[in-house]
Amino acid sequence: MYYSSGNYEAFARPRKPAGVERKTAWFVGAGLASMAGAAFLIRDGGLPGERITVLERLALPGGALDGIKEPRKGFVVRGGREMENHFECLWDLFRSVPSIETEGASVLDEFYWLNKDDPNYSLQRATHKQGQDARTDGLFTLSNHAQRDLVKVFLATREEMEGRRIDEVFGEDFLASNFWLYWRTMFAFEEWHSALEMKLYLHRFIHHIGGLPDFSALKFTKYNQYESLVLPLYRWLLEQGVTFRFGTEVTDVDFELGQERKQATRVHWISDGEVGGVDLTEHDLLLTTIGSLTENSDNGDHHTPARLNEGPAPAWDLWRRIAAKHQDFGHPDVFGGHIPQTKWESATVTTLDRRIPDHIQRIASVTPFSGRVVTGALSPSRTRAGC
Ligand SMILES: Cc1cc2nc3c(=O)[nH]c(=O)nc-3n(C[C@H](O)[C@H](O)[C@H](O)COP(=O)(O)OP(=O)(O)OC[C@H]3O[C@@H](n4cnc5c(N)ncnc54)[C@H](O)[C@@H]3O)c2cc1C
Repeated sequence: MYYSSGNYEAFARPRKPAGVERKTAWFVGAGLASMAGAAFLIRDGGLPGERITVLERLALPGGALDGIKEPRKGFVVRGGREMENHFECLWDLFRSVPSIETEGASVLDEFYWLNKDDPNYSLQRATHKQGQDARTDGLFTLSNHAQRDLVKVFLATREEMEGRRIDEVFGEDFLASNFWLYWRTMFAFEEWHSALEMKLYLHRFIHHIGGLPDFSALKFTKYNQYESLVLPLYRWLLEQGVTFRFGTEVTDVDFELGQERKQATRVHWISDGEVGGVDLTEHDLLLTTIGSLTENSDNGDHHTPARLNEGPAPAWDLWRRIAAKHQDFGHPDVFGGHIPQTKWESATVTTLDRRIPDHIQRIASVTPFSGRVVTGALSPSRTRAGC
């Protein structure tokens, strides 16, 4: 892992790597990670866009960042992203991506102006008993014992937290506190989730402690993230000459495994039903960023619950196949082997029925038709995690 050094590095331009003109880059997956990787390779790595190909099994880019209007169903958005000031890579990327809507502005400019004019905060931070105000009153309610638990986890080594659950390192006091309510409803943690993940989040988001009780820590895009982030980035990458091959599912990667170096030698795929692939040499970069939190997701509606689809799962199956080739390629089942404990459910409301906005206003104390960022009205229930 390479840790960059804040704005000391942010404004220095990297030197052009030797021999970059001879390289080609192949990305697997057209989610934000691949698109960002391609953009940084072009902007900072000096690789011409024409030498980059993105392979994606779906018919459109964006991966988990979606937003689709299905005429008979309404809007489908599998997740909305909470964002914040210190998304160092994301803002560094979007400062270079031109806005689609505002002439001469970058996507970052647009996002910054929007959140400056309309800062996010919640008037009703949490609910209980079917929509009543849980009256957290901005308090953390951390007892001495709970504070000690928090400091202990913060200062623990990674090894001390590995393989442990949150409720094995935090006591009952902490788990009954408002702090835990704020935390789990902001970052989607449950008591049985990883203590190490919780510790790393504490480090990562320590600067947000003050914004936890009213969500003022968070920032949002104007539209869903497909329209606000993916489309401008996709358009910019196409202008740079990047090739996107949709309908292409990567099924395996061959490697030459040496002591010092692992060289990908062939990518296998099925593209529009045809088996194919490409041979790779030392001049080719292969970046496999296949997510995928939304893998095998299913849509339900008012009358039909979403189905739980446990596989086959093209992203997880590909990682499992690659991981079986060498231990350095990771342990997918640490993340993907516990579906009942780690699955997500999210809901998008399409407000055709006039009673729904009224109900939202009652729960969140904000009208969805205010013309302001409505996501500030997040009011999670005390009993459910969410983000
Ligand atoms: C409900 C929800 C809420 C979230 N909330 C937040 C939040 O509040 N803040 C935040 O910062 N982040 C949040 N995230 C996380 C964030 O959205 C993801 O981390 C990010 O979008 C992942 O991008 P990615 O490119 O790594 O993966 P993905 O977006 O998953 O993209 C992977 C792509 O790879 C493709 N693919 C997979 N396998 C193959 C294959 N074998 N061959 C070809 N293509 C393949 C997939 O189709 C997909 O398009 C949330 C995610 C969800 C789902």
